[in-house]
Amino acid sequence: MKHKKKWLLMGLVFILAAALFAGCGKSKETDTTEKSTLDKIKKRGELVVGVKYDTYLFGYKDPKTGKVEGFDVDIAKALAKKIFGDEKKVKLVEVTSKTRIPMLQNGQIDAIIATMTITDERKKQVNFSDVYFDAGQSLLVKKGSPIKSVKDLKKGTKVLAVKGATSGDNVKAKAPDAQVLEFENYAEAFTALKSGKGDALTTDNSILYGMAAQDPNYEVVGGTFTNEPYGIAVRKGDEKFTKYINSFLKELKESGEYDRIKKKWIKQQ
Ligand code: GLU
Repeated sequence: MKHKKKWLLMGLVFILAAALFAGCGKSKETDTTEKSTLDKIKKRGELVVGVKYDTYLFGYKDPKTGKVEGFDVDIAKALAKKIFGDEKKVKLVEVTSKTRIPMLQNGQIDAIIATMTITDERKKQVNFSDVYFDAGQSLLVKKGSPIKSVKDLKKGTKVLAVKGATSGDNVKAKAPDAQVLEFENYAEAFTALKSGKGDALTTDNSILYGMAAQDPNYEVVGGTFTNEPYGIAVRKGDEKFTKYINSFLKELKESGEYDRIKKKWIKQQ
């Protein structure tokens, strides 16, 4: 009987020790998740940024060269240069308007630099940097189209937009009678416009100018009917990394590098 008690006690001690050990492991794990984003990026040896692959002039994968290029891509490279002193230490990951927030939230990317408007709704899900580019929503139509502005979007007009973008809701507010069709990405939406599936495509003027530059049969009309200030998004509550990105943007502007990048890609505006 005495023997039995001894074993029972030893077993209990063992269970307690195991539980304690597991507890230690857990607190270590919490430590790593709480480690600053910047530390994690440095340890990994590269910055991972979500950019568009289908938005000419901002984030665009050139089918001929396979290279991903644009204004947002150059901003991402400049951020890698600030962190590592080497602009090559950036991994570009494709996002669409719909996938960018979930991909940031589940840790696939460190930041979103992808024509993303700062909105109050999105601020509930992500932290935004200061504004790094000012766009506004507009319309792209085939040259000669009777649509000249948002006022011409009437009942029966089909307007094409992209899922997860601000554009769909914005145009519904300005032209409630028009029919809005939403696509997965800008490549699909532009293809749909060209194949006659809609009368106009709506998104930021900056993106539409890129499409018009790719196909001269299309033009941007009517000016802008919203303000779309772009911000770099990082995980919600990550104030440290947000501050770091804001000081990066400030330095980029003060050094003249921001103007150089902007001039390289943006001819209109
Ligand atoms: N700037 C708008 C937005 O963030 C449209 C461009 C985009 O879809 O990324 O929704």
